[in-house]
Amino acid sequence: MLRFVRRKKKGVKAPILAYHWFEVPEEREKSPARRFGISEALFEAELLYLKGRGFESVSLESVRSALLGEGKLPKRAVVLTFDDATQDFKHKAFPLLQKHGFGATVFAVTAHVGGENVWDQASGEPVRKCLTWDEILELGKAGIQFGSHSHTHRNLTMLSNEALWKELDVSKRILEEKLGKNPVFFAYPYGAFNERVKQAVREAGYAGSCALSLVLSDCISSDLYSLRRVLVKSGESFFRFRLRFRLGKLPHRN
Ligand SMILES: [Zn+2]
Repeated sequence: MLRFVRRKKKGVKAPILAYHWFEVPEEREKSPARRFGISEALFEAELLYLKGRGFESVSLESVRSALLGEGKLPKRAVVLTFDDATQDFKHKAFPLLQKHGFGATVFAVTAHVGGENVWDQASGEPVRKCLTWDEILELGKAGIQFGSHSHTHRNLTMLSNEALWKELDVSKRILEEKLGKNPVFFAYPYGAFNERVKQAVREAGYAGSCALSLVLSDCISSDLYSLRRVLVKSGESFFRFRLRFRLGKLPHRN
């Protein structure tokens, strides 16, 4: 008799969600990258969805440990991440995260901490203030993790080796000095990376790095230096969010 043996899929299952900023209704039409903004109502609905299904937020460090076989994750683990470290994280995301018992990792552009999103303004984005170091430290004390989103938010795939190294190394040193701890995780600006960039992130001593699910290959593959993230967009139906979330449940591999 033929017997079908179901191979158990190896890897670590922990969907990683990627948020950016919160939309401001009067600025929405002016923002070319408006799809990356989200409303507080949608954000809270997503948190309630996760909570209702028993998901617990874990840190990227826990995902790394699980991938390296050094630790275990809860059965329903999720990671919430925010790119760019804009001020609205403190005023809008953080209170809702606290209310519903979730933690998060925020990726800061170290040259612009305490400044503005100058990297986005060239393409016509509205001014968004970035968190200051004092705010970062305060949020850190409340359990929010911080990682690097490079030093100046350039497309790393377009840089010379020297400029690439500077973006990675300077940012990591600043974060370690300010936060007083290791390891630091990284998130690729614009989700842009290739093998050269990935290798440089590893050599710079980052503990791991997050990609964005922009193209199909990003949706399928996921390893420690290109951790797949589910991009959360504004104006998206809950059905779509749930579909994306299901993709995020595919295992990450070491
Ligand atoms: Zn960014």
